[in-house]
Amino acid sequence: MRIDSSETPRLKRRGILRGLHKSLSVKSLYSMYFKQRTIAAPVNCSGVGVHSGKKVNLTIKPAPCNHGIKFIRTDLPDCPGISAHFNMVVDTSLATVIGYEGFIVSTIEHLMASFAGLAIDNALVEIDAYEMPIMDGSAGPFTSLIKSAGIENQDAPKCFFVVKEPIEIKKDGKMVGIYPHPNYKITCTIEYDHPLIKKQSYSVDISDHVFEREISRARTFGFVHEYEYLKRYGLARGVSLENVIAIDTEDVLNDEGLRYKDEFVRHKILDCIGDFSLLGMPILGHVVASKSGHTFNHVFLKKFFAQKESWETLIINNLNELPSIQSKSLAI
Ligand SMILES: [Zn+2]
Repeated sequence: MRIDSSETPRLKRRGILRGLHKSLSVKSLYSMYFKQRTIAAPVNCSGVGVHSGKKVNLTIKPAPCNHGIKFIRTDLPDCPGISAHFNMVVDTSLATVIGYEGFIVSTIEHLMASFAGLAIDNALVEIDAYEMPIMDGSAGPFTSLIKSAGIENQDAPKCFFVVKEPIEIKKDGKMVGIYPHPNYKITCTIEYDHPLIKKQSYSVDISDHVFEREISRARTFGFVHEYEYLKRYGLARGVSLENVIAIDTEDVLNDEGLRYKDEFVRHKILDCIGDFSLLGMPILGHVVASKSGHTFNHVFLKKFFAQKESWETLIINNLNELPSIQSKSLAI
């Protein structure tokens, strides 16, 4: 079935919102899809890898229930595939990279953020190089591509990670935590000794609409001195002002400036959504990240998974079945 809007208005009309916990706002209800979702038709695009500089063609195809997100390398013999799951992560130093038996798929986090932001559970992603296209440095082009395919409800319920007790890691001034909350919420804080950025915080209850409007278009950013360093080591070959916000000692070099005043921290939220999607199921909880990045996020995912007494997995068929969760926050 092809759908154009949230299930929530229909559910409202049927009057089944009665059991809903009061702290869940109407706005956040619009993120609640209880059936698994995939795309309605294949879509494709092409671009360059931000580190490899290599051209890459990308096709996203529908996938059946309980399939998850899987990447296929069509440029390799026998077209090997790999699931987008945190236990497949092999590198997080510059981007999130998954790998298995000698092949990798690099820089998956922005596409993964689009899947999670649009509540897509199942898709097959085919690429003909080792690195995903960077597009404009945000998840905006992937989000538009997925929406252009249409989104389809599937005949199977979603299973959620429901956070019951706080889980936290802290090290060298960085922290990542997750706390009970009746929706998927993310709060990020960044701090840079740079006059354009300084300290920025952003907090958002994720829904597909909010993701698309407030987060998906935020671009990755980099400092000119870092770029020169990466270039020396043969990295950042695909970088241009078309796909990164470039910052020198005091200004943005891109002619068009910033898309949001706080675009930097919004992109950190985008990266968090992509990284946390590697748990493989949607989350009911509040993620809080301060001065974190892919590496620290990944350390946290391992701790999260190991600390099984602090969460449960739950199939939720409708709003009445949402567990009553008191928000417990927070460390910052
Ligand atoms: Zn990013």
